[in-house]
Amino acid sequence: MPGPTPVPTPDTAPYWDGAAAGELRIQQCTGCTEHYFYPRPFCPRCGSADVEWRTTSGRATLVSYVINHRPLPPSEGPLVIALVQLEEGPRMMSNVVGVEPEPANLPLGMPLRVTFEQRGEHAIPVFTPAEAAR
Ligand SMILES: [Zn+2]
Repeated sequence: MPGPTPVPTPDTAPYWDGAAAGELRIQQCTGCTEHYFYPRPFCPRCGSADVEWRTTSGRATLVSYVINHRPLPPSEGPLVIALVQLEEGPRMMSNVVGVEPEPANLPLGMPLRVTFEQRGEHAIPVFTPAEAAR
């Protein structure tokens, strides 16, 4: 996401390592099988500390979005700030790229896939329409 450079912590390092490898990784509770995001050392559903990192499919759907017309460095021009729901269940804030930022191009429920943008030191997960996939 645009804004301050993310600083990995022990809780989030696997997430950034995954992004650098082109993988979107989230945590899954071994106890109740819940996938969740953002990274935490305990399952938000059942409280178990028995959690593992998983690589997601990278597939998601568009839940809601706003088109930000104020430039947010390093982005130039309008930016789609979106809430997406991963195939595994969790929702995350991200950007939708690869389409003109107009409502006609952003139907809710649209299938998306993850891609990565290098911003500063970090690869940042963003989403693009699944039809744009090779
Ligand atoms: Zn759990």
